[in-house]
Amino acid sequence: MTTTLRDYGVDIGGTNIRLGVVEDDLVVAQYRQPVGEHRSPQAIVALIVELQQQAMQEWGPARAVGVGAPGIVDPQAGMILKSPHFSEWIGFSARDAIAQAVGVPVALENDANAIAIGEARYGAGTGLTNFIMLTLGTGIGGGLVLRGELFQGDRGFAAEVGHMVIQRDGPACNCGGHGCWELFASASGLHRLIDASDDPAKAAFLEHFHGESTRVTPAAAYERALDGDLFAHQLWRQFGGYLGTGIASLMNVLGVEHFVIGGGIAAAWDFFAEATQRAIARHTYPENAAAVQLHRAQLGDDAGILGSAYLASRCVA
Ligand SMILES: [Zn+2]
Repeated sequence: MTTTLRDYGVDIGGTNIRLGVVEDDLVVAQYRQPVGEHRSPQAIVALIVELQQQAMQEWGPARAVGVGAPGIVDPQAGMILKSPHFSEWIGFSARDAIAQAVGVPVALENDANAIAIGEARYGAGTGLTNFIMLTLGTGIGGGLVLRGELFQGDRGFAAEVGHMVIQRDGPACNCGGHGCWELFASASGLHRLIDASDDPAKAAFLEHFHGESTRVTPAAAYERALDGDLFAHQLWRQFGGYLGTGIASLMNVLGVEHFVIGGGIAAAWDFFAEATQRAIARHTYPENAAAVQLHRAQLGDDAGILGSAYLASRCVA
């Protein structure tokens, strides 16, 4: 009997670790574990081993494992230099530690880059030579796919687009800087925009959230907009404006015309995309603005797992 060896893709999030079994370019099974208090490098490796064992029981051993991790990742060295969600990860040699524990080759990449690779291979980026992936969540994850390949920068740290400064002397960011793009065009940005607003319709909107902006999730703000709430509409237009301002800067620097936008917030697309286009037009040459194409990501939560598994396949091919 011959056994087909499949590649496994792992997505390490601040809340959950997910492992997907990939076959024929699809995630055929998924296993997850909450991270909880298990945040040390050793605890994370142990969780990955646990997920791998669960998957192996049903699907057999992996050929290779790809891991997408949040933070500053040096993919060549296989090291996570630091991570916003895991304070103990300082110079964590994750690739070797995980490879030793799971017993097969491991590829390590930044999570947003893994998502970009997933969309490039199997999703909205298929057929695009150049595109910029933007994953909108608590912050903004970025991935630059240039000439069909992930652009890594000199040390693998390129595409930290969420920390582009769009407001000098703006609010403090957890990167140590101020006025970063992701402080506005993200889930936490929605809270900031609500708090800063003096729109009289705000009070009625916030009544749905016990008067607290921090209770407003992107999904709930989307629901309010669907319900015809005027403040919610205004909020999404503002959000779209900030999103477009950053996209315009990326366009101005790189001349890339295609932007793939994913993450949970993208669900509210119909309420912000027009404002995004208007902001792009406002901040770029008319020829550039006319050329920009915004695409919705297609793979949802599977993008990172598919991208990681693809990188894993490349390290054994
Ligand atoms: Zn920042």
